[in-house]
Amino acid sequence: MPAVMAPGSPTDVDVAVVGGSLAGLQTALTLGRACRQVAVFDDGRPRNAPAAHVHNFLGVAATRPEDLLAAARRLLDDYDVTVIGSRVRTVQREGDRFRVTADGGTAMARSLVLATGLHDELPEVPGVHELWGRDVVACPHCHGWEVRGLPLAQLGRPGMAARAVERAVLLSRWSPDVVLFTDGDELPAVLRTRLDAAGVRACTDPVRRLVLAEGRLRAVELRDGRTIARSAVFVVTRQHQQSDLAQQLGCEHVTDGPAAGAVSTDSTGATSVPGVWAAGTVAVPALLAIGAAGHASTVALAVHNHLLERDLAAPRVRR
Ligand SMILES: Cc1cc2nc3c(=O)[nH]c(=O)nc-3n(C[C@H](O)[C@H](O)[C@H](O)COP(=O)(O)OP(=O)(O)OC[C@H]3O[C@@H](n4cnc5c(N)ncnc54)[C@H](O)[C@@H]3O)c2cc1C
Repeated sequence: MPAVMAPGSPTDVDVAVVGGSLAGLQTALTLGRACRQVAVFDDGRPRNAPAAHVHNFLGVAATRPEDLLAAARRLLDDYDVTVIGSRVRTVQREGDRFRVTADGGTAMARSLVLATGLHDELPEVPGVHELWGRDVVACPHCHGWEVRGLPLAQLGRPGMAARAVERAVLLSRWSPDVVLFTDGDELPAVLRTRLDAAGVRACTDPVRRLVLAEGRLRAVELRDGRTIARSAVFVVTRQHQQSDLAQQLGCEHVTDGPAAGAVSTDSTGATSVPGVWAAGTVAVPALLAIGAAGHASTVALAVHNHLLERDLAAPRVRR
């Protein structure tokens, strides 16, 4: 049976997990099944929440993100796992444990797993925010199948032409009708050659807005007034950590390359701070949903082994 988290008095657990989306809930499932007492804190902002459906997840046909998480939470009822729906404000080391302080309770944990995910900074083009997760998406592997063969746009952002070209080239495998909008960036010959090879047309004029009708995308409108009809727009996002807890704890972060900004870990998810792990996209930004869950199960095994060694080094009465 899950422990009850009493307001005011800290609850002792083996592991506190911050973040209760794909990575956090899989961490809790694996550790709960290993007879560990776990507290999961989550403030309900999974990154894919705006999406209508989750795709490309083994065994799950297009389901709503909230339904997938609700089913995952129900599985935890059989184990000694408590899910607390609130935001963790601080995490402090106290001796060989961590004090995790959230709006809805406090836990003292022997180990800590950060599964706090990322959020996406979207291009500031009118219409993008309104349609995010539906007709405006980022990842062809997640949402390309549903719009295959349709007129598609890849929207770049100023200063990121090379990345936008790579995304447009990727997208060209889902449709023969892809237009790359660079939103004002010129394209060097080498990038144009790649686009030509992929059959992608390029438009370097500044974009004014996305044209919507009845809540759906109709077209991309350029600053000069021209409109190009499109069924879906793929955007280049900038990704940021959802939480500063890793910084609070002094964890090292990746400083360059595609994963810049991620929490640095070894192959088991261990961070530079002993006793602290990072699971899912907080550590590996490119993970799809099932990858975040898979990564988390690997992290959970390492956390369990770490606790096992501590159990053996300092035997205590089993709960
Ligand atoms: C629009 C969109 C659509 C997507 N569609 C797909 C798809 O169809 N298929 C696919 O495979 N992938 C998809 N993805 C990618 C997928 O969302 C991620 O791979 C997945 O969400 C990563 O899971 P995570 O657990 O690492 O992080 P997240 O899902 O971001 O979860 C992090 C959790 O931590 C919580 N949290 C953060 N800080 C705190 C704190 N201090 N205290 C308490 N809680 C905290 C947040 O509230 C959140 O619930 C999509 C992404 C986006 C943006």
